[in-house]
Amino acid sequence: MLDEESKANLRNIVGPEWFLDSPEDIATYSYDAFLPEFVPDGVVVPDSAQEISQIMTLANEKKINIVPRGAGTNISGTAVARRRGVIMAFHRMNKILEIDVDNMCAVVQPGVVNADLQREVAKHGLMYPPDPASMFVSTIGGNVALNAGGPRGAKYGVTRDYLLGLEVVLPTGEIIRTGGKTLKNVTGYDLTRLFCGSEGTLGIITEIIVRLIPQPPAKATLQAVFSDLDDAAKTVSAIVASGIVPTTLELIDRVILDIIRDYGGAGFPSEAEALLLIEVDGETSAVEEQGRRIERFCKERGAIEVERAKDPQEAEKLWHARRTAFGAVASVRPNCIVEDATVPVKHLPAMIRKIVELAEKYQLKIGVLAHAGDGNLHPLIMTDIRDRAEMERVDKALDEMYEVALSMGGTLSGEHGIGIAKDRFITKELSPKAIEVMRGIKRVFDPNNILNPGSFL
Ligand SMILES: Cc1cc2nc3c(=O)[nH]c(=O)nc-3n(C[C@H](O)[C@H](O)[C@H](O)COP(=O)(O)OP(=O)(O)OC[C@H]3O[C@@H](n4cnc5c(N)ncnc54)[C@H](O)[C@@H]3O)c2cc1C
Repeated sequence: MLDEESKANLRNIVGPEWFLDSPEDIATYSYDAFLPEFVPDGVVVPDSAQEISQIMTLANEKKINIVPRGAGTNISGTAVARRRGVIMAFHRMNKILEIDVDNMCAVVQPGVVNADLQREVAKHGLMYPPDPASMFVSTIGGNVALNAGGPRGAKYGVTRDYLLGLEVVLPTGEIIRTGGKTLKNVTGYDLTRLFCGSEGTLGIITEIIVRLIPQPPAKATLQAVFSDLDDAAKTVSAIVASGIVPTTLELIDRVILDIIRDYGGAGFPSEAEALLLIEVDGETSAVEEQGRRIERFCKERGAIEVERAKDPQEAEKLWHARRTAFGAVASVRPNCIVEDATVPVKHLPAMIRKIVELAEKYQLKIGVLAHAGDGNLHPLIMTDIRDRAEMERVDKALDEMYEVALSMGGTLSGEHGIGIAKDRFITKELSPKAIEVMRGIKRVFDPNNILNPGSFL
Protein backbone atom coordinates (compact mmCIF):
# COMPACT_ATOMS: atom_id res chain seq x y z
CA MET A 1 0.00 0.00 0.00
CA LEU A 2 1.08 3.55 -0.68
CA ASP A 3 2.14 5.23 2.58
CA GLU A 4 0.92 8.67 3.65
CA GLU A 5 4.36 10.25 3.16
CA SER A 6 4.46 9.13 -0.48
CA LYS A 7 0.94 10.44 -1.05
CA ALA A 8 2.02 13.81 0.38
CA ASN A 9 5.10 13.80 -1.88
CA LEU A 10 2.96 13.10 -4.94
CA ARG A 11 0.55 15.90 -3.96
CA ASN A 12 3.52 18.22 -3.62
CA ILE A 13 4.74 17.43 -7.10
CA VAL A 14 1.46 17.77 -9.03
CA GLY A 15 -0.62 19.97 -6.73
CA PRO A 16 -3.13 18.58 -4.20
CA GLU A 17 -6.07 18.40 -6.62
CA TRP A 18 -4.16 16.19 -9.06
CA PHE A 19 -3.52 13.25 -6.77
CA LEU A 20 -6.77 11.33 -6.45
CA ASP A 21 -7.54 8.64 -3.90
CA SER A 22 -11.25 8.94 -3.15
CA PRO A 23 -13.16 5.62 -3.41
CA GLU A 24 -14.97 6.95 -6.54
CA ASP A 25 -11.73 7.84 -8.31
CA ILE A 26 -10.08 4.58 -7.33
CA ALA A 27 -13.12 2.67 -8.66
CA THR A 28 -13.03 4.54 -11.97
CA TYR A 29 -9.42 3.59 -12.59
CA SER A 30 -9.81 -0.05 -11.47
CA TYR A 31 -10.83 -1.25 -14.93
CA ASP A 32 -9.84 -0.96 -18.54
CA ALA A 33 -11.71 -2.45 -21.48
CA PHE A 34 -10.31 -5.91 -20.63
CA LEU A 35 -12.68 -5.89 -17.61
CA PRO A 36 -11.23 -7.70 -14.55
CA GLU A 37 -10.86 -5.36 -11.58
CA PHE A 38 -7.45 -4.26 -10.26
CA VAL A 39 -7.68 -1.63 -7.55
CA PRO A 40 -4.92 1.05 -7.56
CA ASP A 41 -3.69 2.93 -4.49
CA GLY A 42 -4.21 6.29 -6.15
CA VAL A 43 -4.19 8.23 -9.40
CA VAL A 44 -1.69 10.95 -10.28
CA VAL A 45 -2.36 13.43 -13.08
CA PRO A 46 0.85 15.26 -14.07
CA ASP A 47 1.12 18.29 -16.33
CA SER A 48 4.66 18.03 -17.70
CA ALA A 49 7.66 15.78 -18.33
CA GLN A 50 9.41 17.56 -15.47
CA GLU A 51 6.67 16.58 -13.00
CA ILE A 52 6.74 13.03 -14.34
CA SER A 53 10.52 12.94 -13.91
CA GLN A 54 10.11 13.88 -10.25
CA ILE A 55 7.35 11.29 -9.78
CA MET A 56 9.46 8.52 -11.33
CA THR A 57 12.53 9.47 -9.28
CA LEU A 58 10.40 9.18 -6.14
CA ALA A 59 8.71 5.98 -7.32
CA ASN A 60 12.02 4.36 -8.18
CA GLU A 61 13.49 5.27 -4.81
CA LYS A 62 10.47 4.07 -2.83
CA LYS A 63 9.58 1.15 -5.15
CA ILE A 64 6.12 2.47 -5.94
CA ASN A 65 4.52 0.82 -8.96
CA ILE A 66 3.37 3.28 -11.65
CA VAL A 67 0.95 2.38 -14.45
CA PRO A 68 0.60 4.86 -17.35
CA ARG A 69 -2.91 5.13 -18.70
CA GLY A 70 -4.52 6.95 -21.64
CA ALA A 71 -8.25 6.43 -22.18
CA GLY A 72 -8.22 2.88 -20.78
CA THR A 73 -9.70 1.39 -23.97
CA ASN A 74 -7.13 -1.38 -24.37
CA ILE A 75 -8.52 -4.88 -24.42
CA SER A 76 -5.52 -6.66 -22.98
CA GLY A 77 -5.45 -5.46 -19.35
CA THR A 78 -2.37 -3.26 -19.68
CA ALA A 79 -3.62 0.00 -18.13
CA VAL A 80 -4.64 -1.31 -14.72
CA ALA A 81 -2.64 -1.70 -11.49
CA ARG A 82 -2.18 -5.46 -11.53
CA ARG A 83 0.25 -5.26 -8.59
CA ARG A 84 -1.28 -2.25 -6.84
CA GLY A 85 0.48 1.10 -7.17
CA VAL A 86 -0.45 4.40 -8.76
CA ILE A 87 -2.17 5.01 -12.10
CA MET A 88 -0.66 7.92 -14.08
CA ALA A 89 -3.29 9.62 -16.26
CA PHE A 90 -2.60 12.11 -19.07
CA HIS A 91 -5.76 14.16 -19.52
CA ARG A 92 -3.91 17.36 -18.58
CA MET A 93 -1.24 16.64 -21.19
CA ASN A 94 -3.62 16.76 -24.14
CA LYS A 95 -2.23 19.53 -26.34
CA ILE A 96 -1.31 19.47 -30.00
CA LEU A 97 1.94 21.42 -29.63
CA GLU A 98 2.68 21.98 -33.31
CA ILE A 99 1.44 21.12 -36.78
CA ASP A 100 4.53 21.59 -38.93
CA VAL A 101 3.11 21.75 -42.47
CA ASP A 102 6.50 22.29 -44.12
CA ASN A 103 7.98 19.18 -42.53
CA MET A 104 4.68 17.24 -42.72
CA CYS A 105 4.66 16.29 -39.06
CA ALA A 106 2.93 17.11 -35.79
CA VAL A 107 4.21 17.28 -32.23
CA VAL A 108 1.67 16.20 -29.62
CA GLN A 109 1.33 15.40 -25.95
CA PRO A 110 0.34 11.83 -25.03
CA GLY A 111 -3.22 12.65 -23.90
CA VAL A 112 -4.33 14.00 -27.31
CA VAL A 113 -7.32 12.01 -28.58
CA ASN A 114 -6.62 10.40 -31.95
CA ALA A 115 -9.72 11.86 -33.68
CA ASP A 116 -8.85 15.38 -32.47
CA LEU A 117 -5.45 15.11 -34.14
CA GLN A 118 -7.06 13.77 -37.33
CA ARG A 119 -9.50 16.70 -37.38
CA GLU A 120 -6.85 19.36 -36.78
CA VAL A 121 -4.38 18.11 -39.40
CA ALA A 122 -7.21 17.75 -41.96
CA LYS A 123 -7.65 21.56 -41.75
CA HIS A 124 -4.17 21.77 -43.34
CA GLY A 125 -5.00 19.20 -46.04
CA LEU A 126 -3.02 16.57 -44.17
CA MET A 127 -3.81 13.16 -42.77
CA TYR A 128 -2.66 11.08 -39.80
CA PRO A 129 -3.51 7.59 -41.06
CA PRO A 130 -3.65 5.32 -37.94
CA ASP A 131 -7.38 5.07 -37.17
CA PRO A 132 -8.19 2.54 -34.44
CA ALA A 133 -11.94 1.98 -34.18
CA SER A 134 -11.59 3.56 -30.71
CA MET A 135 -10.18 6.77 -32.26
CA PHE A 136 -12.89 9.03 -30.82
CA VAL A 137 -11.64 8.28 -27.29
CA SER A 138 -8.25 6.57 -27.40
CA THR A 139 -5.13 8.69 -26.98
CA ILE A 140 -2.00 8.99 -29.10
CA GLY A 141 0.09 7.93 -26.03
CA GLY A 142 -1.96 4.73 -25.71
CA ASN A 143 -1.86 4.24 -29.50
CA VAL A 144 1.95 4.45 -29.48
CA ALA A 145 2.34 2.19 -26.44
CA LEU A 146 0.21 -0.48 -28.14
CA ASN A 147 1.21 0.28 -31.74
CA ALA A 148 -2.45 0.63 -32.65
CA GLY A 149 -3.73 -0.17 -36.10
CA GLY A 150 -7.14 0.33 -37.65
CA PRO A 151 -9.30 -0.16 -40.73
CA ARG A 152 -6.92 1.95 -42.85
CA GLY A 153 -4.01 -0.34 -41.91
CA ALA A 154 -4.34 -2.43 -45.07
CA LYS A 155 -2.91 0.44 -47.10
CA TYR A 156 -1.34 2.80 -44.60
CA GLY A 157 0.13 0.53 -41.93
CA VAL A 158 0.04 1.11 -38.17
CA THR A 159 1.11 3.71 -35.59
CA ARG A 160 4.77 2.61 -35.80
CA ASP A 161 4.87 3.65 -39.48
CA TYR A 162 4.07 7.29 -38.59
CA LEU A 163 6.28 7.66 -35.55
CA LEU A 164 9.30 9.93 -35.99
CA GLY A 165 10.37 10.72 -32.46
CA LEU A 166 9.54 10.66 -28.78
CA GLU A 167 10.30 12.31 -25.50
CA VAL A 168 10.26 9.70 -22.75
CA VAL A 169 10.71 9.75 -18.99
CA LEU A 170 12.52 6.60 -17.93
CA PRO A 171 11.38 4.61 -14.89
CA THR A 172 14.50 5.92 -13.12
CA GLY A 173 13.44 9.53 -13.72
CA GLU A 174 15.74 10.68 -16.54
CA ILE A 175 14.23 12.36 -19.60
CA ILE A 176 15.44 11.19 -23.03
CA ARG A 177 14.63 12.09 -26.63
CA THR A 178 14.56 9.63 -29.50
CA GLY A 179 14.36 10.36 -33.24
CA GLY A 180 13.21 13.81 -34.37
CA LYS A 181 11.51 15.53 -37.28
CA THR A 182 13.65 13.96 -39.99
CA LEU A 183 12.19 11.16 -42.08
CA LYS A 184 15.51 9.34 -41.90
CA ASN A 185 17.42 8.67 -38.72
CA VAL A 186 19.79 5.78 -38.10
CA THR A 187 21.79 7.18 -35.20
CA GLY A 188 22.13 4.27 -32.81
CA TYR A 189 19.51 1.68 -31.95
CA ASP A 190 15.95 2.54 -32.95
CA LEU A 191 14.62 3.36 -29.49
CA THR A 192 11.56 5.11 -30.95
CA ARG A 193 10.34 1.79 -32.32
CA LEU A 194 11.30 -0.05 -29.17
CA PHE A 195 8.97 2.13 -27.10
CA CYS A 196 6.24 1.68 -29.70
CA GLY A 197 4.25 -1.40 -28.69
CA SER A 198 6.09 -1.70 -25.36
CA GLU A 199 2.74 -1.70 -23.52
CA GLY A 200 3.80 1.03 -21.10
CA THR A 201 6.56 -1.10 -19.58
CA LEU A 202 9.73 0.76 -20.65
CA GLY A 203 9.08 4.47 -20.17
CA ILE A 204 6.47 7.20 -19.90
CA ILE A 205 5.90 8.84 -23.28
CA THR A 206 5.56 12.59 -22.79
CA GLU A 207 5.85 13.96 -26.33
CA ILE A 208 5.30 12.36 -29.72
CA ILE A 209 6.35 13.49 -33.20
CA VAL A 210 4.17 11.90 -35.86
CA ARG A 211 4.55 11.91 -39.64
CA LEU A 212 1.66 13.27 -41.69
CA ILE A 213 0.77 12.66 -45.33
CA PRO A 214 -1.32 14.66 -47.81
CA GLN A 215 -5.06 13.95 -47.80
CA PRO A 216 -5.82 11.83 -50.85
CA PRO A 217 -7.96 13.84 -53.32
CA ALA A 218 -10.56 11.10 -53.91
CA LYS A 219 -12.12 8.14 -52.17
CA ALA A 220 -14.59 5.40 -53.12
CA THR A 221 -16.57 3.45 -50.53
CA LEU A 222 -18.30 0.19 -51.39
CA GLN A 223 -20.31 -2.37 -49.49
CA ALA A 224 -20.81 -5.92 -50.77
CA VAL A 225 -23.12 -8.49 -49.22
CA PHE A 226 -22.53 -12.23 -49.74
CA SER A 227 -24.75 -15.22 -49.04
CA ASP A 228 -21.64 -17.36 -48.54
CA LEU A 229 -18.82 -16.46 -46.14
CA ASP A 230 -16.32 -18.31 -48.28
CA ASP A 231 -17.19 -16.17 -51.32
CA ALA A 232 -16.51 -13.03 -49.27
CA ALA A 233 -13.18 -14.38 -48.02
CA LYS A 234 -12.20 -15.36 -51.57
CA THR A 235 -13.09 -11.86 -52.77
CA VAL A 236 -10.70 -10.45 -50.16
CA SER A 237 -7.91 -12.68 -51.48
CA ALA A 238 -8.76 -11.71 -55.08
CA ILE A 239 -8.65 -7.98 -54.33
CA VAL A 240 -5.34 -8.28 -52.47
CA ALA A 241 -3.83 -10.45 -55.24
CA SER A 242 -4.99 -8.01 -57.96
CA GLY A 243 -2.49 -5.37 -56.93
CA ILE A 244 -5.15 -2.92 -55.75
CA VAL A 245 -4.24 -1.74 -52.26
CA PRO A 246 -7.54 -0.86 -50.60
CA THR A 247 -7.43 1.67 -47.79
CA THR A 248 -9.98 -0.42 -45.92
CA LEU A 249 -11.12 -3.99 -46.40
CA GLU A 250 -13.33 -4.95 -43.47
CA LEU A 251 -15.30 -8.17 -43.14
CA ILE A 252 -18.32 -8.76 -40.91
CA ASP A 253 -19.78 -12.27 -40.57
CA ARG A 254 -23.40 -13.42 -40.28
CA VAL A 255 -23.43 -13.67 -36.46
CA ILE A 256 -22.57 -9.99 -36.15
CA LEU A 257 -24.74 -8.86 -39.09
CA ASP A 258 -27.76 -10.50 -37.40
CA ILE A 259 -26.94 -8.73 -34.13
CA ILE A 260 -26.51 -5.35 -35.87
CA ARG A 261 -29.86 -5.85 -37.66
CA ASP A 262 -31.68 -6.78 -34.40
CA TYR A 263 -30.04 -3.80 -32.67
CA GLY A 264 -31.50 -1.52 -35.33
CA GLY A 265 -28.05 -0.59 -36.64
CA ALA A 266 -28.62 -1.32 -40.35
CA GLY A 267 -30.62 -3.56 -42.67
CA PHE A 268 -29.23 -6.44 -44.74
CA PRO A 269 -30.85 -9.17 -46.83
CA SER A 270 -31.91 -12.12 -44.64
CA GLU A 271 -29.58 -14.50 -46.53
CA ALA A 272 -26.52 -12.29 -45.81
CA GLU A 273 -23.66 -14.47 -44.52
CA ALA A 274 -20.94 -11.84 -44.77
CA LEU A 275 -20.40 -8.20 -45.61
CA LEU A 276 -17.33 -6.49 -47.00
CA LEU A 277 -16.77 -2.78 -46.49
CA ILE A 278 -14.18 -1.63 -48.97
CA GLU A 279 -12.57 1.75 -49.46
CA VAL A 280 -9.94 2.90 -51.95
CA ASP A 281 -8.37 6.35 -52.07
CA GLY A 282 -5.89 8.25 -54.22
CA GLU A 283 -6.03 10.23 -57.48
CA THR A 284 -9.57 10.61 -58.86
CA SER A 285 -9.07 8.63 -62.06
CA ALA A 286 -7.32 5.73 -60.26
CA VAL A 287 -10.01 5.61 -57.59
CA GLU A 288 -12.74 5.51 -60.26
CA GLU A 289 -11.09 2.63 -62.05
CA GLN A 290 -10.29 0.67 -58.88
CA GLY A 291 -13.84 1.14 -57.60
CA ARG A 292 -15.19 -0.36 -60.85
CA ARG A 293 -12.77 -3.30 -60.68
CA ILE A 294 -13.65 -4.05 -57.06
CA GLU A 295 -17.36 -3.94 -57.89
CA ARG A 296 -16.70 -6.48 -60.64
CA PHE A 297 -14.60 -8.74 -58.34
CA CYS A 298 -17.44 -8.81 -55.81
CA LYS A 299 -20.12 -9.61 -58.39
CA GLU A 300 -18.00 -12.28 -60.10
CA ARG A 301 -17.54 -14.00 -56.74
CA GLY A 302 -21.22 -14.17 -55.91
CA ALA A 303 -22.04 -10.92 -54.07
CA ILE A 304 -25.83 -10.65 -53.84
CA GLU A 305 -25.72 -6.89 -53.36
CA VAL A 306 -23.04 -4.29 -54.12
CA GLU A 307 -23.54 -0.64 -53.17
CA ARG A 308 -21.20 2.23 -53.98
CA ALA A 309 -21.47 5.52 -52.11
CA LYS A 310 -22.18 8.53 -54.35
CA ASP A 311 -21.13 11.12 -51.80
CA PRO A 312 -19.57 11.40 -48.30
CA GLN A 313 -23.03 11.15 -46.63
CA GLU A 314 -23.71 7.84 -48.35
CA ALA A 315 -20.20 6.66 -47.44
CA GLU A 316 -20.95 7.45 -43.78
CA LYS A 317 -24.12 5.37 -44.05
CA LEU A 318 -22.15 2.41 -45.38
CA TRP A 319 -19.72 2.77 -42.47
CA HIS A 320 -22.60 2.75 -40.01
CA ALA A 321 -22.87 -1.06 -39.75
CA ARG A 322 -19.15 -1.38 -38.96
CA ARG A 323 -19.20 1.44 -36.46
CA THR A 324 -22.28 0.02 -34.70
CA ALA A 325 -20.80 -3.48 -34.43
CA PHE A 326 -19.13 -3.24 -30.99
CA GLY A 327 -22.10 -1.48 -29.36
CA ALA A 328 -24.55 -3.98 -30.84
CA VAL A 329 -22.48 -6.97 -29.76
CA ALA A 330 -22.15 -5.57 -26.24
CA SER A 331 -25.94 -5.71 -25.90
CA VAL A 332 -26.12 -9.49 -26.39
CA ARG A 333 -24.40 -11.04 -23.35
CA PRO A 334 -22.83 -9.54 -20.21
CA ASN A 335 -19.31 -9.75 -21.66
CA CYS A 336 -17.61 -9.67 -25.01
CA ILE A 337 -14.06 -10.98 -25.33
CA VAL A 338 -12.39 -9.28 -28.29
CA GLU A 339 -9.66 -11.48 -29.75
CA ASP A 340 -6.95 -10.43 -32.15
CA ALA A 341 -5.55 -13.46 -33.98
CA THR A 342 -3.74 -12.42 -37.16
CA VAL A 343 -2.70 -14.60 -40.07
CA PRO A 344 -1.03 -14.10 -43.45
CA VAL A 345 -3.82 -12.86 -45.75
CA LYS A 346 -4.01 -16.01 -47.88
CA HIS A 347 -4.99 -18.05 -44.78
CA LEU A 348 -7.88 -15.75 -43.90
CA PRO A 349 -10.66 -18.01 -45.31
CA ALA A 350 -9.26 -21.08 -43.49
CA MET A 351 -8.92 -19.15 -40.24
CA ILE A 352 -12.49 -17.87 -40.43
CA ARG A 353 -13.73 -21.41 -41.12
CA LYS A 354 -11.79 -22.62 -38.07
CA ILE A 355 -13.41 -20.00 -35.85
CA VAL A 356 -16.89 -21.01 -37.03
CA GLU A 357 -15.97 -24.64 -36.30
CA LEU A 358 -14.70 -23.77 -32.79
CA ALA A 359 -17.92 -21.90 -31.99
CA GLU A 360 -19.90 -25.03 -32.82
CA LYS A 361 -17.51 -27.42 -31.09
CA TYR A 362 -17.50 -25.45 -27.82
CA GLN A 363 -21.11 -24.19 -28.04
CA LEU A 364 -20.08 -20.54 -27.95
CA LYS A 365 -21.50 -17.45 -29.59
CA ILE A 366 -18.60 -16.12 -31.65
CA GLY A 367 -18.88 -13.51 -34.38
CA VAL A 368 -16.05 -12.39 -36.64
CA LEU A 369 -15.04 -8.85 -37.51
CA ALA A 370 -11.86 -8.64 -39.49
CA HIS A 371 -9.50 -6.02 -40.84
CA ALA A 372 -9.42 -8.56 -43.66
CA GLY A 373 -6.96 -6.68 -45.89
CA ASP A 374 -4.14 -7.35 -43.44
CA GLY A 375 -5.31 -10.72 -42.08
CA ASN A 376 -6.18 -9.22 -38.68
CA LEU A 377 -9.21 -11.05 -37.26
CA HIS A 378 -11.31 -9.96 -34.31
CA PRO A 379 -13.34 -12.95 -33.19
CA LEU A 380 -15.85 -11.53 -30.70
CA ILE A 381 -16.79 -14.09 -28.05
CA MET A 382 -20.09 -13.14 -26.44
CA THR A 383 -20.08 -14.68 -23.02
CA ASP A 384 -20.61 -14.28 -19.28
CA ILE A 385 -17.36 -14.34 -17.33
CA ARG A 386 -19.29 -15.43 -14.19
CA ASP A 387 -20.23 -18.72 -15.86
CA ARG A 388 -17.27 -20.95 -15.02
CA ALA A 389 -18.26 -23.86 -17.25
CA GLU A 390 -18.65 -21.54 -20.23
CA MET A 391 -15.33 -19.82 -19.48
CA GLU A 392 -13.57 -23.20 -19.50
CA ARG A 393 -14.97 -23.76 -22.97
CA VAL A 394 -13.84 -20.25 -24.01
CA ASP A 395 -10.30 -21.05 -22.82
CA LYS A 396 -10.25 -24.29 -24.77
CA ALA A 397 -11.50 -22.54 -27.91
CA LEU A 398 -8.82 -19.85 -27.53
CA ASP A 399 -6.06 -22.43 -27.02
CA GLU A 400 -7.07 -24.11 -30.25
CA MET A 401 -7.57 -20.86 -32.13
CA TYR A 402 -4.08 -19.59 -31.33
CA GLU A 403 -2.49 -22.99 -32.08
CA VAL A 404 -4.04 -22.83 -35.54
CA ALA A 405 -3.18 -19.15 -36.13
CA LEU A 406 0.46 -19.77 -35.19
CA SER A 407 0.65 -22.93 -37.30
CA MET A 408 -0.36 -20.75 -40.28
CA GLY A 409 2.54 -18.39 -39.61
CA GLY A 410 0.29 -15.93 -37.78
CA THR A 411 0.65 -14.05 -34.50
CA LEU A 412 -1.13 -13.81 -31.15
CA SER A 413 -1.83 -10.13 -31.61
CA GLY A 414 -2.07 -7.90 -34.65
CA GLU A 415 -2.77 -4.71 -32.71
CA HIS A 416 -4.23 -5.18 -29.21
CA GLY A 417 -1.05 -6.30 -27.45
CA ILE A 418 -0.45 -9.16 -25.05
CA GLY A 419 -0.93 -7.70 -21.55
CA ILE A 420 -2.49 -10.21 -19.22
CA ALA A 421 -5.12 -11.21 -21.77
CA LYS A 422 -2.72 -13.38 -23.72
CA ASP A 423 0.39 -13.75 -21.58
CA ARG A 424 -0.28 -17.45 -21.11
CA PHE A 425 0.17 -18.02 -24.85
CA ILE A 426 3.38 -16.05 -25.32
CA THR A 427 5.74 -19.05 -25.14
CA LYS A 428 3.85 -20.55 -28.05
CA GLU A 429 5.08 -17.72 -30.30
CA LEU A 430 8.38 -16.59 -28.76
CA SER A 431 11.36 -18.79 -27.97
CA PRO A 432 12.79 -18.85 -24.39
CA LYS A 433 15.82 -16.92 -25.69
CA ALA A 434 13.63 -14.19 -27.25
CA ILE A 435 11.75 -13.81 -23.95
CA GLU A 436 15.06 -13.69 -22.05
CA VAL A 437 16.27 -10.87 -24.37
CA MET A 438 13.03 -8.94 -23.75
CA ARG A 439 13.37 -9.41 -19.98
CA GLY A 440 16.94 -8.12 -20.25
CA ILE A 441 15.72 -5.00 -22.10
CA LYS A 442 13.12 -4.41 -19.39
CA ARG A 443 15.83 -4.64 -16.69
CA VAL A 444 18.02 -2.05 -18.45
CA PHE A 445 15.17 0.48 -18.56
CA ASP A 446 13.49 -0.41 -15.29
CA PRO A 447 15.91 -2.11 -12.85
CA ASN A 448 13.37 -2.09 -10.00
CA ASN A 449 10.43 -3.28 -12.12
CA ILE A 450 8.19 -0.43 -11.01
CA LEU A 451 6.72 0.56 -14.39
CA ASN A 452 3.58 -1.38 -15.25
CA PRO A 453 4.79 -4.57 -13.55
CA GLY A 454 2.98 -7.89 -14.01
CA SER A 455 2.52 -7.42 -17.74
CA PHE A 456 3.40 -9.94 -20.41
CA LEU A 457 7.00 -10.42 -19.27
C1 LIG B 1 -14.48 -0.53 -29.17
C2 LIG B 1 -12.99 -0.65 -29.29
C3 LIG B 1 -12.42 -0.66 -30.55
C4 LIG B 1 -11.03 -0.78 -30.69
N1 LIG B 1 -10.49 -0.78 -31.94
C5 LIG B 1 -9.16 -0.87 -32.10
C6 LIG B 1 -8.57 -0.87 -33.41
O1 LIG B 1 -9.25 -0.77 -34.43
N2 LIG B 1 -7.22 -0.97 -33.48
C7 LIG B 1 -6.43 -1.07 -32.37
O2 LIG B 1 -5.20 -1.16 -32.50
N3 LIG B 1 -6.95 -1.08 -31.13
C8 LIG B 1 -8.29 -0.98 -30.96
N4 LIG B 1 -8.82 -0.99 -29.69
C9 LIG B 1 -7.93 -1.10 -28.53
C10 LIG B 1 -7.48 0.27 -27.94
O3 LIG B 1 -8.44 1.25 -28.19
C11 LIG B 1 -6.15 0.72 -28.51
O4 LIG B 1 -5.15 -0.21 -28.13
C12 LIG B 1 -5.68 2.11 -28.07
O5 LIG B 1 -4.44 2.36 -28.66
C13 LIG B 1 -5.56 2.29 -26.57
O6 LIG B 1 -5.42 3.67 -26.30
P1 LIG B 1 -5.80 4.28 -24.88
O7 LIG B 1 -5.56 5.73 -24.89
O8 LIG B 1 -7.15 3.84 -24.47
O9 LIG B 1 -4.70 3.58 -23.97
P2 LIG B 1 -4.86 2.76 -22.60
O10 LIG B 1 -5.79 1.63 -22.79
O11 LIG B 1 -5.11 3.69 -21.49
O12 LIG B 1 -3.39 2.20 -22.45
C14 LIG B 1 -2.86 1.29 -23.37
C15 LIG B 1 -1.40 1.02 -23.04
O13 LIG B 1 -0.66 2.20 -23.25
C16 LIG B 1 0.10 2.52 -22.10
N5 LIG B 1 0.19 3.98 -22.09
C17 LIG B 1 -0.80 4.88 -22.21
N6 LIG B 1 -0.30 6.12 -22.23
C18 LIG B 1 1.04 6.01 -22.12
C19 LIG B 1 2.12 6.93 -22.06
N7 LIG B 1 1.92 8.24 -22.15
N8 LIG B 1 3.37 6.45 -21.92
C20 LIG B 1 3.59 5.11 -21.84
N9 LIG B 1 2.62 4.20 -21.90
C21 LIG B 1 1.37 4.64 -22.04
C22 LIG B 1 -0.66 1.91 -20.96
O14 LIG B 1 0.17 1.64 -19.86
C23 LIG B 1 -1.15 0.64 -21.60
O15 LIG B 1 -0.15 -0.33 -21.58
C24 LIG B 1 -10.20 -0.88 -29.53
C25 LIG B 1 -10.79 -0.86 -28.26
C26 LIG B 1 -12.16 -0.75 -28.13
C27 LIG B 1 -12.75 -0.73 -26.76
